[in-house]
This record gives sequence, C-alpha cells and structure tokens, in this order.
Amino acid sequence: MSLPPLVEPAAELTVDEVRRYSRHLIIPDVGMAGQKRLKNAKVLCVGAGGLGSPALMYLAAAGVGTLGVIDFDVVDESNLQRQIIHGQSDVGRPKAESAAATVREINPLVDVVIHNTALTNDNVMEIFSGYDLIVDGTDNFATRYMVNDAAVLLGKPYVWGSIYRFDGQASVFWAEHGPCYRCLYPEPPPPGMVPSCAEGGVLGVLCASIGSIQVNEAIKLLTGIGDPLVGRLMIYDALEMKYRDVKVRKDPECVLCGKNPTVTQLLDDYEAFCGAISDEAAEAATGSTITARELKAMQDNGDDIFLVDVREINEYEIVSIPGATLIPKGEFLNGSALEKLPQDKRIVLHCKSGARSAEALAIVKNAGFSDAVHVGGGVLSWVKTVDPSLPSY
Ligand SMILES: [Zn+2]
Repeated sequence: MSLPPLVEPAAELTVDEVRRYSRHLIIPDVGMAGQKRLKNAKVLCVGAGGLGSPALMYLAAAGVGTLGVIDFDVVDESNLQRQIIHGQSDVGRPKAESAAATVREINPLVDVVIHNTALTNDNVMEIFSGYDLIVDGTDNFATRYMVNDAAVLLGKPYVWGSIYRFDGQASVFWAEHGPCYRCLYPEPPPPGMVPSCAEGGVLGVLCASIGSIQVNEAIKLLTGIGDPLVGRLMIYDALEMKYRDVKVRKDPECVLCGKNPTVTQLLDDYEAFCGAISDEAAEAATGSTITARELKAMQDNGDDIFLVDVREINEYEIVSIPGATLIPKGEFLNGSALEKLPQDKRIVLHCKSGARSAEALAIVKNAGFSDAVHVGGGVLSWVKTVDPSLPSY
C-alpha cells in the first residue's frame, strides 16, 4: 500500500540546505521534492528516552523542519546506557532541553520546540494539533493509550515503537488508512503482568534498531514514498537476529476507530484504565504504606521487623536496602514465600518503586500477617531520601 505524502513541499531549499542534504537529493525517490517536504514537516517526538534519542537525532539530521520534543523527566546516569542524545554533562538537566541542544548541534537549520512537561489529558490534543506526525517513544501503557486515542481523534498518523530486553516492535497507526493501537491491543495488560524496561532491563542498542525503523517510517509517510508500516506489526528479535512482520487488521468493532465507536473523546484517567496496581494491592496498601524514612527510623529504633525485598536477584545485586532478605515476588505468587516469613516479627516489604511490594502485601495480609506494611517508592525512594550515596537504576 502506498499513501500520498503527508506534507506539501516548502517553496525552496537554500544553498546551505542543498549542500547539507545532497545525499538525499540524489536519491531519485526523495529528490528535491521529498527534501522540501521534510523541510516543511512538523514532527513531535513523545519522550526523549531510549527510542526518542535515536529518533530525534536522525529526524534532525534528515532535515525535518520543525521537531517537537516532549519530556517531563531529567537525565539520570542510568539513562546514558542507551539514551544517546544525552551525555554525561547533561545528568540532572531536563531531558527536553538536553535533547534540543543535541538536535541544534546536529542540525542548526531545524526549528526545535521544547515541551518540558508531562503529556496529559489537558495538553495532548493542543500539542498534537500543532504537528503533522507523532513519533511515540513512550515506555508506559497509560501514555501509549492516550497517544493513540488523541492521534485517532485528531486524524493524525503516528509511528509506534516498543522495546524490552532483546525484543522490539514497531508499527504505524493511522485510523484513516488502517488499524489503531486499540485494534491490536484492545485492553491494556493486567497490572504487573508486563514489566517495564526499568524493571526488566533493555539492551541499549535495541533502541537504535527500533528507533531507526520509526524514523524510516516517518520519512516515508512525510514524503509519500515506499510501502509504509500501516496494518503491519514489525517484530524484531535481537538474539536470533530476525525481523518478521505480521498483518494487523483494522477491527470493525474497535471502540475507538471501529464502525460504532463508543470512545469519542479522551478517557478521564488513563492511569486508572491501565491500573498501575491491582485493586487487591491498592486495598492492601491503604493505611499500610510507610516511607523509606520511616523504615530507616524503625531500623534505628531497633524495631522487631523482618524486611523483605521482593525484587529479582539481578536488581538486588545492583543496590539493596541494608538488612533486607531477598524473596522475589514470584515466590509470593506461588505461596512458597510464606513459610520463610517469621511469625513473631512485623513484615516490611519493598521493591523498586512500590508496585510489586503492594501486590505481595495483599498476599501476605491474606495469609494473616495483618500488621504487615510495604515501603512506598521502594528502593528508589530509599536512595533518594535516606542514602543518596547508593546507586539508582
Ligand atoms: Zn482501532
């Protein structure tokens, strides 16, 4: 399937532009007309992280005239293993600003628009409406569904990518010409079922493999060349070194882009839709959540507690809270953890951020440990508020 170009060509290229883009200009399919379209294009990259880094850098080098970058986060040392748009001296700096500086260094002819803010229900429609195309480099399901819904409601195409450990996926969602993300994934995964890269890790270079597919598709859509990844899901296995693509059909029953849509505006709460934690975990954590500082005070007081780290061993080896015993969450799910818990001590659970420990807390409380608590914010909060000398990850 070929599609018409998304963008009208700019009036002309300057002499500087002709020199800079000469390797594009001599490709017959791109040529002067294609490069003028890129010059006129406005592309927004959601997230200046793993996927956003290579995407923004290649979009800038390619001569996309206006590049928006939206990110609310600041650069952390643990980002540098893959987020190559940022460097050592950018640690602590807002990612949107750091990314914009690199874009300007790669190509000063690009007009960079910095959105140093979180993408929310309140701003997504207005921000998206200023761009021709969105590149989605988000790492969580709530934002992913919001990006999809906003793009479909505005009639805009977007290039989606996702990465985890050695596996990557990419597609182009454009409801006018094919399926949307909800046609492929009507429901978000159950809470806790799909670990994030922050929990499960990602091979740094995988970001380049998938990010470059996203830029490739963006350039094709903007200039109207080739066979775009609309209605196809690209699946990449870096260990096997295999790419394959599977057909994705538009779902006539899709609640958003189907024949009789029931979702006709943004959802009120995408976090709730994707359920950061299960109802059981939320209920167990209510009134039974302590802060990292409170845990430290308990330890300093010599309280009779049994501190359990429910993360995985790899994570425990990177950083752990002194005195914690490692019992991974899986052992709570299969019940084997319970016999390891002392009956005469107060059980205190923690994980990386507080999501997994809340799930484990529900199981522990159900088993009769009624005064058990978990640490909100987990190890991350411990490092931030109790011992900043420890590494974060
Ligand atoms: Zn759909």
